[in-house]
Amino acid sequence: MALIVQKFGGSSVADAERLMNVARRIVDTYRQGNQLVVVLSAQGDTTDELIEKAMEISENPSKREMDMLLSTGEQISIALMAMAIEKLGYQAVSLTGQQVGIYTNSFHTHARIENIDGKRVKDELEAGKIVLVAGFQGVNEHGDITTLGRGGSDTTAVALAAALKADLCEIYTDVDGIYTADPRIVPDARKLKDISYDEMLELASLGARVLHNRSVELAKKYNVNMEVRSSLNDHDGTLIKEEAEMEKTMIKGVAYDKDIARVSILSVRDVPGIAFKIFKLLADADINVDIIIQSIGRGDTKDISFTIARNQLTEAVDLINKNLDYIGAKGVNFTHDVAKVSIVGAGMANHPGVAAAMFEALAKEDINIHMISTSEIKISCLVRKDETEKAVKAIHERFGLGETEEE
Ligand code: ADP
Ligand code: ASP
Ligand code: MG
Repeated sequence: MALIVQKFGGSSVADAERLMNVARRIVDTYRQGNQLVVVLSAQGDTTDELIEKAMEISENPSKREMDMLLSTGEQISIALMAMAIEKLGYQAVSLTGQQVGIYTNSFHTHARIENIDGKRVKDELEAGKIVLVAGFQGVNEHGDITTLGRGGSDTTAVALAAALKADLCEIYTDVDGIYTADPRIVPDARKLKDISYDEMLELASLGARVLHNRSVELAKKYNVNMEVRSSLNDHDGTLIKEEAEMEKTMIKGVAYDKDIARVSILSVRDVPGIAFKIFKLLADADINVDIIIQSIGRGDTKDISFTIARNQLTEAVDLINKNLDYIGAKGVNFTHDVAKVSIVGAGMANHPGVAAAMFEALAKEDINIHMISTSEIKISCLVRKDETEKAVKAIHERFGLGETEEE
C-alpha cells in the first residue's frame, strides 16, 4: 500500500463539473489500494476575487486580516470535495491547516512552514478515509491563520509528503508537465521528461509559476519524489528529481517574471558602508532584493539600482524616501514597466558563449537590456514589460528548445 499526496490547483477544481471529475480521479487512486492525502487550492480565480474584495475596502489592509480572508478560498474547495467523494460512496474528511497542525512563522501573507504535526492526518488515514487538506494555509504560534504566498498550495503538498514520508507527491495542474517555457506564450515549447531539483528551483524562482519555489526547495531538502501532470488527461508528466538525465540541450528552459519593479537610488555618496545601510534597511523590512547594479562613481556620488517584487514597491520607496538623509542620497526613482527574462540550465557553466547567444537573440528583436545578472546555472535580463513575450520566444528559438528542433 502506497501513501500518495496529490495536489489539485485552482483551475482543476474551478467548477462543479471539474470538481466531480477530480473526485472520480481521487476515488480511482484510492480504490487501487493507496492511502491518499489530497491538497486543494481555491476554485478558479477565487483568491484574486478575494483580494479585489479587500481592495474595495482598503488599499492597505492588515496582513493578518488578508490571511483570514484568503484562507477561506481553500476551505470552500475541501468541503465541496468531501461532499463530492461522499456522493461517490467513499469516506473523506476535510481539514484546515490548523486541524492538520501545519505550524508556520508569523510572516502573514508569506509565512513559512516550520513544522507539521501529522497525527490527525495519520489517524484519519488509518480509519480508511481520504484526507482533504486546505492548501496555502497554516497557523502561527498565536493560533492565527497564515498563508504561504501566492501559489503556496504546492508547498503544502510537498511539506505534507515530507512529513508523512509519502511515497509520491503528484501536482495536478492545467498543463501536462514542466515545459521548456510557458506553453501559453511559446506554442512550440517542449514538455520535459524530467528536471533536476536545482534547475526547477531556478525556473520557479525566476517566475515559472507552475510550481511554488518553496515547494521545490522542500522537495530537494527531503528528497520527495515529485511529479507535475495534468488533471485533464492521463499523459505522463514531468518528474522532478536529484539528477535529471543528460539532455541534448544545455539550457533547460526560459522563464519570465512580470511581477517585479526596478528602484534606483540616485546620487548616493561614494563612501564605504552605503550599500550596507540601504540593503540592511530593506532586509529589516523583509523586502527581498534581486538584481543589484551600482554605477561607477562620478565625482563623489554613484547610483544604486535594484529589483524587487512589485507588491513591495510602495513599501520600499516609502522606506527609502524616509531615509534619504541617513543613506546620503539625493532621490529615488522607480518603475514597474519592467520584466525579467531568464534562461536556466545546469549545463551552461561549461559552455562559453551562452550569455552572448541570449543577448544576440534580444538584439535581433531590437530589445534593450536594462540590467543583467548571472549565476552558474542562470542568466537573467531586465527588459521592458511589453517586450516580455517577444523576448521569451526569441530566446527559446535561439537555443532551439522547441519540439521541432529536438527531433
Ligand atoms: P495551478 O492552479 O494548478 O497551481 P498555476 O496557474 O499556478 O496552476 O500554474 C500552471 C501554469 O503555469 C500553466 O498554466 C502555465 O501557463 C504556467 N507556466 C509557466 N511556466 C511554465 C513552464 N515552464 N511549464 C509549464 N507551465 C508553465
Ligand atoms: N489559492 C492560492 C493562490 O491563488 C494558493 C494556490 O493556488 O496555490 O495563490
Ligand atoms: Mg499554482
